[in-house]
Amino acid sequence: MRARVEIAVTGIVQGVGFRPFIYRLATRYGLVGFVRNMGDAGVQVVVEGEKRIIEKFINSLRSEQPPLARIDEVKTTWKDATNEFTIFQVVPSETTGLGLSSVVPPDLALCDDCLREMLDPSDRRHNYPFITCVNCGPRFTIIEGLPYDRPRTSMKAFPLCTDCLHEYQDPPDRRYHAEPTCCPVCGPRMELYDRDEHRIDVADPFRETARLLDEGSIVAIKGIGGIHIASKTTDDEVLARLRRASNRPQQPFAIMSKNLETIRTFAEVNKAEAELLTSYRRPILVLKRSPNYMLSDFVAPGLDSVGVMLPYSGIHHLILRHGSDPAYVMTSANVPGLPMLVDNSEAKVKLRGAVDFFLLHDRVIVNRCDDSVVKFIDGKSALLRRSRGYVPEPIKLSFRSERSVLAVGAELNASAAILVGDRCFVSQYIGNTTKVETLEYMRAAAERLMRLLNLKGVDVVAHDLHPNYATTRVASRMAKELGAKTFAAQHHHAHLCSLMVEHGLEKLVGIAADGVGYGSDGTIWGGEVMVAGLSSFERVGGLMSQRMPGGDLATRFPARMVAGILWQHLGREELERVLEEFCASGFKRGKRETSIVLRQLERDLNVFRTSSCGRVLDAVACLLGICDERTYEGEPAIKLEAAASKGVTREVKLEPVIKKVDGMKIVDTSQLLADIISALRVRAPRRHIAAAAQRVIARGLASIAIDTASSRGVGVVGGSGGVFYNWAITAAVRKEIEKAGLQFVQHELLPPGDGGISTGQAVVAARQHD
Ligand SMILES: [Zn+2]
Ligand SMILES: [Zn+2]
Ligand SMILES: [Zn+2]
Repeated sequence: MRARVEIAVTGIVQGVGFRPFIYRLATRYGLVGFVRNMGDAGVQVVVEGEKRIIEKFINSLRSEQPPLARIDEVKTTWKDATNEFTIFQVVPSETTGLGLSSVVPPDLALCDDCLREMLDPSDRRHNYPFITCVNCGPRFTIIEGLPYDRPRTSMKAFPLCTDCLHEYQDPPDRRYHAEPTCCPVCGPRMELYDRDEHRIDVADPFRETARLLDEGSIVAIKGIGGIHIASKTTDDEVLARLRRASNRPQQPFAIMSKNLETIRTFAEVNKAEAELLTSYRRPILVLKRSPNYMLSDFVAPGLDSVGVMLPYSGIHHLILRHGSDPAYVMTSANVPGLPMLVDNSEAKVKLRGAVDFFLLHDRVIVNRCDDSVVKFIDGKSALLRRSRGYVPEPIKLSFRSERSVLAVGAELNASAAILVGDRCFVSQYIGNTTKVETLEYMRAAAERLMRLLNLKGVDVVAHDLHPNYATTRVASRMAKELGAKTFAAQHHHAHLCSLMVEHGLEKLVGIAADGVGYGSDGTIWGGEVMVAGLSSFERVGGLMSQRMPGGDLATRFPARMVAGILWQHLGREELERVLEEFCASGFKRGKRETSIVLRQLERDLNVFRTSSCGRVLDAVACLLGICDERTYEGEPAIKLEAAASKGVTREVKLEPVIKKVDGMKIVDTSQLLADIISALRVRAPRRHIAAAAQRVIARGLASIAIDTASSRGVGVVGGSGGVFYNWAITAAVRKEIEKAGLQFVQHELLPPGDGGISTGQAVVAARQHD
């Protein structure tokens, strides 16, 4: 019996070769009809033929989908055949939608087929870095609107030549309906400029760039999601110059190496890490340095790790294959605190004096996207930054929300998120929203994401509870424009909600440990144990509330935290001796500064209160002489972790002391610092003290969580917040929790740090309003 079926497919089905796949499938089954992209990133298929053949076709559609596609739903509507078709074809896209939320794919690394062609001297795209096909290339970064067709991408400026058009229209071709396809005749071009913006006329700008880099030059290179600054990695002098020029004295630089084999000459790569490094996502992976690490220490000063990625675009492949260094710095080009540069003329102005050459192309980057950063922690991959290669892939929720929510994150490492139906779409990494430019970027990224989801408005705009965050102000402005309500979510509750939705949980006992988050009592929290549901939480314990003399100054100079934490514990005279003995270099203006800090503490003037775990780790790092000034986020704690990785916890006997304060169970962090001082006085090696101190914090928080879980009858304990980037702390918490017969969950899809906050905010807002 002949029949007709209209199929609506949602998920990630545009930009992944889905229409060519359907074309081939329908042709194989001898069906007639059409396939087309829809205005909401979905795909519509209409076929007519024998009913039982169509049923087989639908089964194959599900089971044989293209590798990069992600089908969320296949909706079928059966009708009588109209016999209007004689063939099957790909027809022009529709701007209307199917009323279901789909999304365009993330950017995909250059595939092996394209790489082979690019390196083949007889291929017409030999040495052409913009080579691409349906299986690879930029997607999110070039898309302006939906449906995903060339005229709505930044490839619209490059009309297809006859040869490319032929491939684009030829069903068996790998470039059949590959929207960004191009060639040296019709596509973007790359050109090399010197510091005075003069074009350098060379036959092969990639080979020349490699030569310049090897010679010690610093080169700005425009890639897929933004502009990088590149240099060699084996020359201290070049790296010192790069650090001065980019105003980053200590922050680790990401590097790029041409293949896995080369990475293995300086870093340890296990199987899971190798898989992720070579996946189409191609993130930066934080790897442990190998014993024969031979790159300059200026790449990542004071750390035992190094952030490495493999080439993901033709541009990188063509440069790296000619270079002789084992790796090249490939760090985002930006003014510190501002978004990565994407525009050629802006780069030439802003990077003047900082770089020696520019290698730029003429394709517009529509959606800026930093490289993603991943670190394997306790066997699981944790995202430090979720951006290129991941965005805008959604997080699937275990519930369906009646309301749509836009969330704007907290202050640092912010991302935006949009919750609609049973999915949450997280934007690319935005950065620190303390600067106007970054805030503008946040707003633009949120609006673009709404457009890509075909949303005209949202019901709620969610933000942090902190009244003075710039994101809080942006949220209220956006809510007004969108006619939406606003909703404030507590920072650590949002952390735990983002963790819960990843695991489909409705309730857990959570440890939320980070640097800073505004508490419901107006103090700064950051070492909390909570019983949390998706719409409410109860704070049951955590780290002791400590004094922070000078507020933000105590974040930058951890010696102030040492003073604050020990103030009541030691008494003034003893404290002065301790500061002189162990932290003298931490007070940049010497004794005068020490007495100012002590006077502040005495009068309780400009002294804030915080239970932050990050500040305690900072203080430990300072006391142990590991780091006395924070020049990038998390620096003292990251360096403490590096020092501790060489230590053995049982070499120094430190135990958590847990007290009951105002009905809450509290880890006494003053006692911890006092015990560290005792250990230092008997000359215990610092690496062992560092390891033992981290363990005290982990075991202290875990023990409160275990007690709470058993008294409340909750079976799952979870960890969220930036502290869960620390391998030793995460592993120790997990061990304690599992020893107690409970399940421990950590992040795998969203960042444990503040990049995951927006999702949590959106979830709380949706659930409270529902
Ligand atoms: Zn390809
Ligand atoms: Zn062409
Ligand atoms: Zn946080």
